[in-house]
Amino acid sequence: MSLIIDLHSHTTHSDGALSPQELVMRAQQMQIDVLAITDHDTVSAISVAKEYAQKNDIKLEIVTGVELSTSWHGFDIHILGYNMDINDPVLLKRLAAQLQERDERARRICDKLAKCGIENVYEDALIHANGAQISRNHIANVLVDRQVCATHQLAFSKYLGKGKRAYATPKWITIQTAVEWITQAGGQAVIAHPSHYDMSTKWLRRLTTEFKAAGGVAMEVTHPNMQKQTKSLLLEVALSSELLGSAGSDFHAPGRWTELGRRLDISEQVKPIWHDWPVVLNHHKIHQQIA
Ligand code: AMP
Ligand code: MN
Ligand code: MN
Ligand code: MN
Repeated sequence: MSLIIDLHSHTTHSDGALSPQELVMRAQQMQIDVLAITDHDTVSAISVAKEYAQKNDIKLEIVTGVELSTSWHGFDIHILGYNMDINDPVLLKRLAAQLQERDERARRICDKLAKCGIENVYEDALIHANGAQISRNHIANVLVDRQVCATHQLAFSKYLGKGKRAYATPKWITIQTAVEWITQAGGQAVIAHPSHYDMSTKWLRRLTTEFKAAGGVAMEVTHPNMQKQTKSLLLEVALSSELLGSAGSDFHAPGRWTELGRRLDISEQVKPIWHDWPVVLNHHKIHQQIA
């Protein structure tokens, strides 16, 4: 029996719709064995989720994760980190600085919106974020609520997307810094959704080569709704860059197209990042004993 492993998910501690407790319940419903929680620039949901799973005797391996925002040649590249020590004071201080930049960027975006005649969005976005960091998704929700934009997608294509009217260039860390933060806290760094960056294959190879040289260990090589051709390309890039493979749904909310743990099989040609993870090996042992 193979395990269901999903290494990319969000909670209300960033821009996910489910609280850490609700995410754990959802994972249980979907029969997930191993779940990584990878909120944007924060690890605050993990202890809440682990405590909830333990208290309710839920058999789910929760992997410590994070998704760091980085800037690279004008692209917003997301770097996932796994198995860091989330109580490491240096890591926590670094993440706090990144969240500070997130807040400052949100203010810059809202200043630009005000110049377009859309006032006081920051205050409403704070309410949407409900105490968590503000992401562009929260700002898009405000624009939809106020009927400034008919859809979330339109909020991006008119105001929030790269180069649009209220786009504020983020001052994220570099890829090298992200890998350093993750590695120095004892973790492993992984490139998130390489097919989402709207870059040529040449740039993608440059990205994976630089990432590997910086000490990165893996890249996501599949995604629930990925075309076969894209999958083959990512597999080939992972192999030629000598990166391990990883997979996750990037779950934000239950929906028609998004669910935990679905269609995340990765090719046998690439070694999975979890090949030597104790949580996975232990789980295999338990399953073999039952079987
Ligand atoms: P942030 O980390 O605050 O910059 O927000 C990034 C999130 O915004 C991504 O994870 C996507 O969910 C969403 N996003 C970014 N660009 C677009 C776009 N063009 N259309 C729709 N959603 C987008
Ligand atoms: Mn997100
Ligand atoms: Mn991402
Ligand atoms: Mn994500």
